[in-house]
Amino acid sequence: MEYYSTGKKAPNASLRKAVLRGLAEDRGLYMPEHIPTLPASFFRDLPGMTFPAMAKSVAGAFFGDDVPSDVLDRIVSGTLSFDCPAVRVEEDVYALELFHGPTLAFKDVGARFMARLLGYFTREDCDRGDICVLVATSGDTGSAVANGFLGVPGTRVFVLYPKGRVSPVQESQFTTLGRNITAVEVDGNFDDCQSLVKAAFMDDFLRSSLCLTSANSINIARFLPQAFYYFYGYAQMARLGKADKLAVCVPSGNFGNVTAALIARRMGLPINRFIVANNSNDVFFTYLQTGIYRPKPSIPTLANAMDVGDPSNFARLLDLYGGDWNRIRADISGVVVDDGAILETIRSCHAENGYLLDPHGACAYRALRDSLKKGETGLFCETAHPAKFRETVEKATGVPVLLPERLQAFLSGKKETVPMPAEYRAFQSLLLSR
Ligand SMILES: *Cc1c(COP(=O)(O)O)cnc(C)c1O
Repeated sequence: MEYYSTGKKAPNASLRKAVLRGLAEDRGLYMPEHIPTLPASFFRDLPGMTFPAMAKSVAGAFFGDDVPSDVLDRIVSGTLSFDCPAVRVEEDVYALELFHGPTLAFKDVGARFMARLLGYFTREDCDRGDICVLVATSGDTGSAVANGFLGVPGTRVFVLYPKGRVSPVQESQFTTLGRNITAVEVDGNFDDCQSLVKAAFMDDFLRSSLCLTSANSINIARFLPQAFYYFYGYAQMARLGKADKLAVCVPSGNFGNVTAALIARRMGLPINRFIVANNSNDVFFTYLQTGIYRPKPSIPTLANAMDVGDPSNFARLLDLYGGDWNRIRADISGVVVDDGAILETIRSCHAENGYLLDPHGACAYRALRDSLKKGETGLFCETAHPAKFRETVEKATGVPVLLPERLQAFLSGKKETVPMPAEYRAFQSLLLSR
């Protein structure tokens, strides 16, 4: 399969090129040339399939021409070593828990899949030693990428993060790993980290001596595997006899997760409609109302992984519908949930249902509750474990949140970082010395 750029001004790319490049030459995002549909027999068998088995079929439909099936099966099995249960919260409302991976947030699946696929491609064609994966993070992305690539042969990861501006739980998830993961503690803010990464990609000297790639969320290998979640969510609802009129709600920031869900539907998955939950960063909501897309600077909220003022995957969503606002509005509705409503929702859902939401899941649960119609069953994505946002959740409920063992283990690990001023020369020599 070939991949085209949403910018329409770059040549098509092979899967290998799209994965190694990330962004196309015209700064557009790669999209699969066609969206394969899965056969009726697959949908008949779906409710009885295991998560890895159905993911292998989905991955095969996209990547089967480019990756041998035994390799692809190994990549999928290596990615999905944990469950994503649909949990009943109340009558007709279920949480699809996407946070049972190593870093307890939903980005694990995309990061792990991408790490393994990149490991396969680079073993074949990187003649300048290991491939260096650069990622700038303000928290969650760094931990998902670092843990996804941990121990993947042929890869070295550099996670750049702003010193003193990442929560201790988040920091511990990428500074205690060692092996092929280097945490670079930059004396600056997140934008400084991002500038250092950008400077490295523009440095011809560096690029001639190292194999460089980025692992941000626009990479096709991080983006597409998120579709797995929706097949599995649907299958679980079908097993309960609740899949007939299914409304799926996705808490969204960069719109990768929800766009992958829309692709799952194009592949034939019978999800009735989608609801996008936004926090106070409401550019998409405004687009749905007015047809005008106007990016804005992001504003900080309690659901900070969704603090995005110009969602990068909006280009993919638009492309999927040929830019047709009316068709987009027919499939997707939007709800904005502000910080006050997030706190109130965490409190009331805990009090009434005994279910503990994180701030991102709270946006989704609230948006779903506000728009569910009679006769529908609602399924919302719970994208992070509540303990990752302990302070907010405790403030809302007044009840202490226990840290799961996995987070405890990160916190008791030994922190090792490379401290660095926000100057490109220092970063360049670090990369060249490896
Ligand atoms: C990244 C993230 C989101 C937003 O996902 P997008 O695909 O960027 O829309 C939501 N919740 C959590 C916990 C996240 O880490």
